[in-house]
Amino acid sequence: MWPAALARGNTSNHYDVIVIGGGTAGIPCALFAAMGGARVLLVEKSPALGGTLFWSTGQIAGSGTVFQERLGITDTPQAHFEDCMRINHATADPALTRLTVNHAGETINWLAEHGFEVMDGHPVTGIGHDHFTARRYQQGVKSGLSILDAFLPSLNAMVAKRKITLLTGTTAANLIQSRDGRVTGVTTAGPEGLRDISGSNVVIATGGCAANARLFEELHGVPLYAKTAYPTSQGDGLLLGLSAGGTIVGGDKYASLPGLVPDAFQYPSQMFAYAPLNPSIRAPWEILVNARGERFVREDHPSVHHIERGVYQQPAHRHWAIFDAAMLERSEPIIPKWTRERLANEHRSNAMFHSAMSVEALALSAGLNSLALHSTVDDYNRRLKEGREDAFGRKMRPAPLSTPPYYSIAMQGWTLVSFAGLKVSVDLQVLRKGGEAVPNLYAIGEVIGAGATSGAAYTNGMLVTPAITFGRLLGTKLARASLSR
Ligand SMILES: Cc1cc2nc3c(=O)[nH]c(=O)nc-3n(C[C@H](O)[C@H](O)[C@H](O)COP(=O)(O)OP(=O)(O)OC[C@H]3O[C@@H](n4cnc5c(N)ncnc54)[C@H](O)[C@@H]3O)c2cc1C
Repeated sequence: MWPAALARGNTSNHYDVIVIGGGTAGIPCALFAAMGGARVLLVEKSPALGGTLFWSTGQIAGSGTVFQERLGITDTPQAHFEDCMRINHATADPALTRLTVNHAGETINWLAEHGFEVMDGHPVTGIGHDHFTARRYQQGVKSGLSILDAFLPSLNAMVAKRKITLLTGTTAANLIQSRDGRVTGVTTAGPEGLRDISGSNVVIATGGCAANARLFEELHGVPLYAKTAYPTSQGDGLLLGLSAGGTIVGGDKYASLPGLVPDAFQYPSQMFAYAPLNPSIRAPWEILVNARGERFVREDHPSVHHIERGVYQQPAHRHWAIFDAAMLERSEPIIPKWTRERLANEHRSNAMFHSAMSVEALALSAGLNSLALHSTVDDYNRRLKEGREDAFGRKMRPAPLSTPPYYSIAMQGWTLVSFAGLKVSVDLQVLRKGGEAVPNLYAIGEVIGAGATSGAAYTNGMLVTPAITFGRLLGTKLARASLSR
């Protein structure tokens, strides 16, 4: 790990607030700090602002929003809180969840006032993850870009008024710390070389580490099976926070999504295709097996998180969808937007897809345990034929697996985000292992770990919503602090 640098010589400038990272959390933090009267420096290593908002679906949730009002929906932060904790089995930090839900409605209303518009029919109770009990979840018409578009005019206006100094193409390479442990600035590396810049408060908003396979594995104890995170999510801020005395928590909350068809059996793989395996999106006809050829989960379980946890328990988080010609013919294609013809023929050119005239031959071709797969399919068919309960309690059993040719698709558990992150207080101050704050150092966004606000699950909107909300709240608070100094 890098040691935090000690202050070198005279610094050329001083700012009330230095925000490192101009993405989902950093933009609102810089903006609200500047609107509150603080002198702000925003340091962004990419040429453009936006970070993960360029890729993110940007689904966000909140109560008391104008979008709910339009539909006559009444809702409360308490109901939102209870839904979040139910979905993630109370594995998220309750104080940070409260902070999010208590202010998420204001966040969404601010976005709406600045041009953010939602998709037809939104807000909804849920989309790809377990649903809320109320309609409070929405996606912008241009996904994450709708959020960025709402912020940029205000941010650009603050830059034009010189309330925000913006350094793009510039990396925060080090934190500067006084001998008594206070963070007093950053060392930046940009077109002008290395520069020490001092600040009264420094906010780390550099995103997660799910594009950095080595760091991800170190912090989660699980390899990064597929690279799907925004490429700047390299974990810079985690290392910066550690260097100043912070501590990292939450790696144990890692949760994997099912259904990624990898481009190859290597880590990290790339996503070749995606099958949601979510019974609320598509009724499953196929069975799911592991490398041993055994089923491991109720494929039609009403909670997609249950299926996710089942996948997580399989070796290398691998799973195979097994189906036959009749299932292919009668079910919705397992990979959205693929034709049945493509599903039937992909095995001719793609090693993740196999087809054979018997279950045993399919297993041999796909590299699964042949005897076990035969007995798995036999058990599934027998119970169905004899009207006995399914071995995993599956209710939807529309047809036996008995019409050749048989098909398999190899799939991989995966994640878009990192769960480990800098431990923060409810004031968003970076904490040492013992629980005391590193003076003047704050962290927001995915750098505090998905585990903090989403828990060991994918809780609807519980990354983008807290990222923006914490950015807004912290920016406002640090501006107030700067005025009272
Ligand atoms: C495809 C996809 C879909 C998603 N969908 C959803 C969703 O619908 N809802 C949800 O809640 N979550 C979703 N997520 C997760 C969510 O989008 C992210 O967790 C969130 O956007 C991260 O925000 P952030 O501000 O922490 O990081 P970012 O938005 O990535 O911003 C970090 C910024 O810091 C910059 N940076 C990094 N290191 C440095 C450095 N050393 N110096 C200067 N700058 C630096 C980066 O260049 C970047 O611009 C999704 C993620 C992905 C990848």
